[in-house]
Amino acid sequence: MNQVPVRIPAPTRDRGPRGRFAPSPTGRLHFGSLVAALGSWLSARSRGGHWIVRMEDVDTTRVVAGAARDILETLAAFGMESDEPVVLQSERSAIYAQALQRLRECNLAYPCHCSRADLAPFGGIHPPDCVVSAAADGRVPAWRLRVGSSVVAFEDRVCGTQIQDLARSVGDFVLRRADGCYSYQLAVVVDDAEQGITEVVRGADLLDSTPRQIHLQRALGLPTPAYLHLPLVLEPSGRKLSKHDRARPVDAADPLPALRAALAFLGQAASPHSMVGEFLHDAAARFDPARIPRDRNTHVALRKD
Ligand code: GLU
Repeated sequence: MNQVPVRIPAPTRDRGPRGRFAPSPTGRLHFGSLVAALGSWLSARSRGGHWIVRMEDVDTTRVVAGAARDILETLAAFGMESDEPVVLQSERSAIYAQALQRLRECNLAYPCHCSRADLAPFGGIHPPDCVVSAAADGRVPAWRLRVGSSVVAFEDRVCGTQIQDLARSVGDFVLRRADGCYSYQLAVVVDDAEQGITEVVRGADLLDSTPRQIHLQRALGLPTPAYLHLPLVLEPSGRKLSKHDRARPVDAADPLPALRAALAFLGQAASPHSMVGEFLHDAAARFDPARIPRDRNTHVALRKD
């Protein structure tokens, strides 16, 4: 594969891991996102590392007013605060544009007018060539990344070896939508690299996105962080809890019960402390990733109100 030279500068960092929690501000923090926040916090802190919060509001159409502030206040009540100023993806379009430009220069990105409906006969997977030709009416195209014949393998610290044939599983994927929004895949790769993230700890719903992100890192000449995907918190019906479904938010006024439940969900030893700071300090000291349950999607859920 062609490789775009790295031009995104990685600032000098302290030694030690750098983890992050990257919520999308589409609603209030629920138990599932608390598990992701706590898992990433414990993993970084247990080895004396940094933990950063990034607001993933790149898809402005999904943003709920006030949600970003609410999430940060809730995290603070749960004893977890970003070590660095919180970065907003909505303010970083120029950086994503540079990355897309580099991919275009290397002929790794191409414009595309295929709609979802056009791709439906292909199972939604974009083949190497567009199924519709460029629109004559000058409509703005989406931009896609060529995946070629890449098969991406990586080792997840909980889920083990993962292998994905990109062309068969996802096809050429979107970097920028026709409405001008940069895609989550592009934004997350650029931001993780630019923020010097060395480990990504997040929910297993993103396990399938990771090969795309690794492919993009390679195309942009960026380092690949370590990955750890946490089991998902499901509703009794088996669905993933989701902020925009109004899953019951965690109670910032009484953080310990949810913290205890989140720690138990992660398979970790209970912390005896009843002050949030001490609770977290103790949990970090005893954090053992080998205790995180490996089975995806089989965990019980909290009920909605
Ligand atoms: N913004 C994503 C979410 O809220 C998480 C992305 C990530 O951790 O890479 O589900």
